[in-house]
Amino acid sequence: MKILVVNCGSSSLKYQLIDSETEEWIAKGLCERIGIDGRITYQPAGGDKETEEIPMPDHTNAIKLVLEKLTNEKTGVLKSLDEIGAVGHRIVHGGEKFASSVVINDEVIKAIEECNDLAPLHNPANLIGIDACKKLMPNTPMVAVFDTAFHQTMPPKAYLYGLPHAYYEKYKIRRYGFHGTSHSYVSHRCAELLGKKYEDLKIIVCHLGNGASVSAIKNGKCVDTSMGLTPLEGLIMGTRSGELDPAILEFIANKENLDFAGVMNILNKKSGVYGMSGDLSSDFRDLEDAMNNGNELAKQAVEAFCYRTAKYIGSYVAAMNGVDAICFTAGIGENAAVVRTMVCEYLGFLGITINEENNHKRGEEIDISTPDSKVRVMVIPTNEELAIARETVALLK
Ligand code: AMP
Repeated sequence: MKILVVNCGSSSLKYQLIDSETEEWIAKGLCERIGIDGRITYQPAGGDKETEEIPMPDHTNAIKLVLEKLTNEKTGVLKSLDEIGAVGHRIVHGGEKFASSVVINDEVIKAIEECNDLAPLHNPANLIGIDACKKLMPNTPMVAVFDTAFHQTMPPKAYLYGLPHAYYEKYKIRRYGFHGTSHSYVSHRCAELLGKKYEDLKIIVCHLGNGASVSAIKNGKCVDTSMGLTPLEGLIMGTRSGELDPAILEFIANKENLDFAGVMNILNKKSGVYGMSGDLSSDFRDLEDAMNNGNELAKQAVEAFCYRTAKYIGSYVAAMNGVDAICFTAGIGENAAVVRTMVCEYLGFLGITINEENNHKRGEEIDISTPDSKVRVMVIPTNEELAIARETVALLK
């Protein structure tokens, strides 16, 4: 079956058409600047990537353009839209309502709407994506795959904040966690690669991308994760601050004469390694270059990023009373050998030793620990689109 995977942001839309039998992508691309002007990229497997500037007033228009690209006479990969067996939608927030993926119907759409409060920037965009597909492919089944679902197995001691209980009751303020599809995919793949049963393992997954989170998976269940009510908590990220003393918010507001929205904008968009490096870059390639050229702030930012990551790993070893494997994934986790080295330098107490030759290999699933290391350390490229396609097929069977 051919599955169209759709990931809608507020002004962007990532798509991938996947053959569920071979698990290979058939075509993929991105719509950007939706509602502003519009740009679409499209790449068929084995073909060249093309980019076109084209007006995209809204998401329905963007999906329409994607479907036109997929069925284009010359460069398309489909003869007709009927070949699309199902659409899998990435939905950011499923609140406590969704502990797993679901087939989309009117009731599900209403329940996702009820979670809008928890992800006001993301869920409405995801819903627009669902609506656009419904309009253009009314008979094609659709599945919602939630970023939060995998973490719903966390116990109350991990998901409750030190706040008045009434806020949890009234507003559902708690830790939800994100990147769930990635944490699930990578931890399952880790068990497969180790040839062990998923339920028998204690795994820590470090999803280190522009957004970054760590999760602890014990005996097949997520027991803790670093992102919280929103994706702002936890690790230092590309432009997000991660955890900090909450009193800093008021302090910055007073000093800089900002309202809440202004402070949140600083914490989400101007902080992280970007802000720490003196607005140099949020991209680790730039930071590594700068660091190698003696830039002190870039060095501090990368060191703080690695230190924070190692501290989370340490705390999750305690939470699980041990660890069998630590996995690195996403843009930084998969590519930045120096980050893996710096993180693992803190973990000698666990009997971890790294094979630096393997650590410098790129683009493959690999065990980078030495044979005598007490804990396996793996690099496992994530594949959220494939995970969404798999969930979609499994639900429709
Ligand atoms: P993601 O959000 O998973 O797409 O990750 C994007 C981030 O990965 C970028 O902002 C970079 O910081 C990082 N990244 C991507 N490629 C490399 C690379 N070759 N070396 C170091 N960092 C990289």
